[in-house]
Amino acid sequence: MTENPALSCADLLAAVSAPEGQGAELKDPATGEVVGYAPQSTPADLDEAVATARAAQKDWAALSHAERSAHLNKAADAIEASAAGLAELLSREQGKPVKNGPNAAFEVGGCVAWTRATAAFPIEPETLVDDESGTAELRWEPIGVVGGIGPWNWPMMISIWQIAPALRMGNTVVLKPSEYTPLSVLALAHVMNQVLPDGVLQVLAGDGELGKAFTAHEGIDKITFTGSIETGKAIMRSAAEDLKRITLELGGNDAGIVLDDADPKAIAEGLFWGAFINTGQTCAALKRLYVPDSLYDAVCEELTAVAKAMPMGNGLQEQNVLGPLQNRAQYEIVAKLVQAAKDSGARVLIGGDPDESAPGHFYPTTLVADISNDNPLVAEEQFGPALPIIRYSDLDQAIEWANGLDVGLGSSVWSSDIERAKEVAARLQAGTTWINKHGAIDPRVPFGGVKQSGFGLEFGVEGLKHMAVPKVISA
Ligand code: NAD
Repeated sequence: MTENPALSCADLLAAVSAPEGQGAELKDPATGEVVGYAPQSTPADLDEAVATARAAQKDWAALSHAERSAHLNKAADAIEASAAGLAELLSREQGKPVKNGPNAAFEVGGCVAWTRATAAFPIEPETLVDDESGTAELRWEPIGVVGGIGPWNWPMMISIWQIAPALRMGNTVVLKPSEYTPLSVLALAHVMNQVLPDGVLQVLAGDGELGKAFTAHEGIDKITFTGSIETGKAIMRSAAEDLKRITLELGGNDAGIVLDDADPKAIAEGLFWGAFINTGQTCAALKRLYVPDSLYDAVCEELTAVAKAMPMGNGLQEQNVLGPLQNRAQYEIVAKLVQAAKDSGARVLIGGDPDESAPGHFYPTTLVADISNDNPLVAEEQFGPALPIIRYSDLDQAIEWANGLDVGLGSSVWSSDIERAKEVAARLQAGTTWINKHGAIDPRVPFGGVKQSGFGLEFGVEGLKHMAVPKVISA
């Protein structure tokens, strides 16, 4: 049992929202109703926050790993105590269903799980040499002040992926959440700061201009960024000025290959959630599905049946398992790409016909068949609830298509023969290749992209090392 208060959504909004009409207005993507107002931080606020973080880092870094882990576990308890309020706020601001499917409660629960797991990882000095020539020991030291910049799709979970390993390794953290979902992250930090020492975790809300100020700030020693490839490149350019360390978790366009021995009925639900988790607004969601001739019709039919059974609507209504797109810009991208696919003669199995007059940014679950590999709906990251299903007759060709883009976050192989699937998996260019699942993550298992999906790793002991600088002591 924990002594932390259970803060409701209203409590959290009262704590973090600016007064009505001040700051940036945030609207519920399902209804258009105002959720709250985010106070807008300035570069001067950033100067102050960095100075506070720098001062706090001394004492924080002086703690042992066990002491910092104890603080992280207390923060996890505090999140758990306010989980319902956090999930409701997240659902109202981001749009994802509060309870059903992989949802807001799942995201808040993930914050608790990742924080606890990160507190538990062993990170000991490594003895590399101990012989007649002498000794060499490798240690992992704090970097200093870490600036985190995040996206709007999984705002709380991605913030925790930045916060927990950075704090564990003795750094202090200043975060800039997406301008689309700042209240969720301000609320998460508010809850954690009930128990963390002053100054180790701060959140400043603002847009890309404030993000630029982070990357240019001389008092920030590392930027950990999750977001688009375009912004990742801008951050890398800016960080080059003072050679800041960077981790870049960027966009993807994940391919899945169904092998000809797969069972279409058995894989249909896994394929569905691989693609449509969070209404497709997930960096490592299945975005292009390659299916052999022999199974093409059966896979299309089974996937359509699953899609039909998944209700989409206001995330606060518990029957819904899929919510709206978070913002209009994202809706327009998806609508344009699906329309272009339709115009090219591709066949829509389900969806593709949004009700433009309805409130909210709802784009229906959409499956598109008989589409060529070079169609923009296949080749571009559409980041929404659409899945193009591409027919193949030659497995080598499907692998070439899967590897044919300049991104490589996740990918998957679907088969009844695990060994055969592993052989295909080894040929796919991606940070992670899943077999008979897609997008499943685990705090113990490193996650990151290849090609333009970024570099640096999160999660596990590898993730801790990316929030530290190596230090060798040799005698
Ligand atoms: P985005 O790049 O538009 O914005 C991300 C953040 O960067 C926001 O906080 C924004 O304010 C800030 N920003 C914008 N311009 C900046 C600049 N010049 N300097 C510094 N900061 C700046 O991305 P988004 O639309 O919020 O998120 C969607 C993208 O994120 C998709 O491409 C998705 O694939 C990717 N993503 C990747 C992962 C991963 O782990 N690899 C996870 C989630 C999302």
